Amino acid sequence: MSRKLFIAGNWKMNTLKASAVELAGALVESIGGIEDIDLAVAPPYVYLEAVSAALKGSRIALAAQSAFWEAGGAFTGEISTEMLADVGCEYVILGHSERRHVIGEENEQINLKVLKALAGRMDVILCVGELLEQRQADRTMEVVTEQVKIGLEGVSSICADGKSLAERLTVAYEPVWAIGTGETATPEQAQEVHEMIRSLLGEMYDEQLASQLRIQYGGSVKPANARDLLSRPDIDGALVGGASLKAGDFEAIVRAGM
Ligand code: PEP
Repeated sequence: MSRKLFIAGNWKMNTLKASAVELAGALVESIGGIEDIDLAVAPPYVYLEAVSAALKGSRIALAAQSAFWEAGGAFTGEISTEMLADVGCEYVILGHSERRHVIGEENEQINLKVLKALAGRMDVILCVGELLEQRQADRTMEVVTEQVKIGLEGVSSICADGKSLAERLTVAYEPVWAIGTGETATPEQAQEVHEMIRSLLGEMYDEQLASQLRIQYGGSVKPANARDLLSRPDIDGALVGGASLKAGDFEAIVRAGM
């Protein structure tokens, strides 16, 4: 089964308005017309509209870095998927390790967010991944299995809009010890977990859905390691942090997938 690669840049809490627009403009110039790979960037909330305008006419989609599970109301500081769709977001990243381990989001809250986003118009990138001590204790598969199972609790294989879950959901395997550290999982380590996630999705849903659903790798993806990672059979793209802030590096990662 050949799956179209999906490469997304997570800008995290970086850029100011002018640099966000400049970065988006540079990406539009260099990779904005690529059709063979799906592309997205996730700027900070406050620059979504400005970046959306800069991406107009290109094939680079807009993503948000998080979202809340309610549509609106007294939830100070939160942003709903309705608001994100309103400013042009197509994707939302949920369960990123910094949300889990810095902000304290639990699997159950992430599950509420996934259910909410998929019930509406927002496609989801669900991040999972183990801490260093969990890998060292040989608990990687157990931790990732729990994150996938609870994260997708109650999520059906056909979404409210009639589309298959495989079209609306991407799983991103991001070992926490590899995020922002310069340390990358070897392609073999990443492939092993991706294969396990795909077989788990096969058990939770069915083989066809599992074979269609994309699983990105994230964790210090750089131009130098992208080709090797992206060539593995179960690695269907990348979620890129640090390197997505440099237009040339992000372009090189995308081109490594072509
Ligand atoms: C990320 O933010 O999802 C990420 C993988 O970051 P980095 O590429 O910097 O490790």
